[in-house]
Amino acid sequence: MSEKQDIVEIRIPHNKIEDDNFIREKIRAKKKNLGKHFFYHILKRSIDARQKIIYYLLRVEISNQKIKVQDFYNLISNYPALNPNKEVLIIGAGPAGYFAALECLRLGIKPIVLDRGKDVRARRRDLKAIQQDHKVNPHSNYCFGEGGAGTYSDGKLYTRSHKRGKIQNVLELLVAHGAHRDILVEAHPHIGSNKLPGIVSKIRETIESNGGEVIFNCWITDLILEDGKLRGAINYDGKEFRANATIIATGHSARDMYKLLDDKKINIEAKPFAIGVRVEHPQVLIDKIQYKQEPRSEFLPAAPYKLVSQVEGKGVFSFCMCPGGLIVPAATSPGEIVVNGMSLSKRDSPFANSGVVTEISLEDLSANGYTGTFAGLDLQKSIEQKVFEIGDGSQKAPAQRLLDFIEGKDSTDLPKTSYIPGIYPAQISEVFPEWIHQRLREGLNMFGKKMKSYLTNEAIVVATESRTSSPIKIPRNRESYMHDDLVGFFPCGEGAGYAGGILSAAMDGQNVAKGVARFLNQN
Ligand SMILES: Cc1cc2nc3c(=O)[nH]c(=O)nc-3n(C[C@H](O)[C@H](O)[C@H](O)COP(=O)(O)OP(=O)(O)OC[C@H]3O[C@@H](n4cnc5c(N)ncnc54)[C@H](O)[C@@H]3O)c2cc1C
Repeated sequence: MSEKQDIVEIRIPHNKIEDDNFIREKIRAKKKNLGKHFFYHILKRSIDARQKIIYYLLRVEISNQKIKVQDFYNLISNYPALNPNKEVLIIGAGPAGYFAALECLRLGIKPIVLDRGKDVRARRRDLKAIQQDHKVNPHSNYCFGEGGAGTYSDGKLYTRSHKRGKIQNVLELLVAHGAHRDILVEAHPHIGSNKLPGIVSKIRETIESNGGEVIFNCWITDLILEDGKLRGAINYDGKEFRANATIIATGHSARDMYKLLDDKKINIEAKPFAIGVRVEHPQVLIDKIQYKQEPRSEFLPAAPYKLVSQVEGKGVFSFCMCPGGLIVPAATSPGEIVVNGMSLSKRDSPFANSGVVTEISLEDLSANGYTGTFAGLDLQKSIEQKVFEIGDGSQKAPAQRLLDFIEGKDSTDLPKTSYIPGIYPAQISEVFPEWIHQRLREGLNMFGKKMKSYLTNEAIVVATESRTSSPIKIPRNRESYMHDDLVGFFPCGEGAGYAGGILSAAMDGQNVAKGVARFLNQN
């Protein structure tokens, strides 16, 4: 029998999503000439919650023969032999660094990955220390350590990029390293922080078993510059690492790396970024608003939301929304408080949290007295430190009920929160300069007009969400991916200003590795 394949799009009520017979009937209704026996495979799944009945929209592949489901193991099992004369240093084992390393292997270049933090397992103890003992290890925390800021995150895999082939390749590589195949199917895929560490350690195994190296507890504090070229890096212990090229993918929280580059007179630039708060609602409330259901059907995931408003021409927007998630302490130094969000793969916590931030442009910075390369970073740091200073010296975060925040009222008490270090009532206006506070207040007020019932005192505002993106950019050539003024230096990922999330950081890592390969072929 010759193989016949086709693709159909069907719409089914959400509560029929696990009903094989119903799905088959729907397919048959679309493809009248289909025989009784056929095989099908869901290629894409999204939710349409615009009407009273909530539907799943499915893009389905059908065939008269069994459809082979790929494991993508071929992507990581046929690397070429490494060229002994081609080595690249990769500083930072986040998504940018690890995907750069995988791409280097594919191109026959030996990657040597250096990270200041610990491997995913050892890192867990330091996360517990922040959560329970309020101790921040400046080298091992929610941002630093194997897998970077992406490891103990929500693991949302969205990007604004439209490069479908490249996105698909990163998703397939994640599946090859143990991610659930659903990430290839869901319109808004996510992995969850209980699954991410296993995937990250499998990526390390791939790097090491194919001739690369990964070295932890290796904080880079100096660079080797010779004849106007970057020849390598030196760690805190004075150990030198030399290579043919150096990728710096140290993320948006490696403030010491920006300082080092600036001290070495390597050009870096101020860049717009965003700052604000994390807002936490009961998940049932968000489900009720989005699905008009209480409780939510067992066939629907915890509902997300996405909101944007403009206040005097400046954007205020929700960011990194974590349905069924937890607020986590994401500080990277003692003496500061930073919050962020994560979730487990099931997204089954009773809370929904999201960053709500306002853009901070370069004009905003200069108009408010922040100038020079470190203008944004200085503002970011001063707010994080202020949040710490008004507290009791722990990682407890100041919080206010949402309506109280908008109306400028004290919250006499606070509802339960997912934030383990704890919260205490405070006027959040205290921690922000007035111009930022006003924008957040008005922006949130407008959210209430767009999403009925969003503004409620059952929700809280927690300070501060300040690490949404890097306030500094490391300029590089658009084609070669190399720094404009320094031969052999390849800025990469979110910290260099070329990514905003796991997926885009991973894709940037791959692009930069290709740039390194072209550079090594020419030199
Ligand atoms: C709690 C949390 C939740 C998040 N949730 C999501 C999400 O759901 N989806 C999403 O897309 N994004 C999410 N993000 C953002 C995402 O994690 C980042 O965009 C992404 O990790 C950036 O990748 P990167 O490789 O460029 O940098 P990073 O991931 O920041 O990695 C940088 C690495 O460099 C290392 N390093 C820093 N300085 C040095 C040095 N001097 N020497 C040696 N090593 C150094 C660090 O230890 C770190 O491992 C989240 C972030 C956090 C903190």
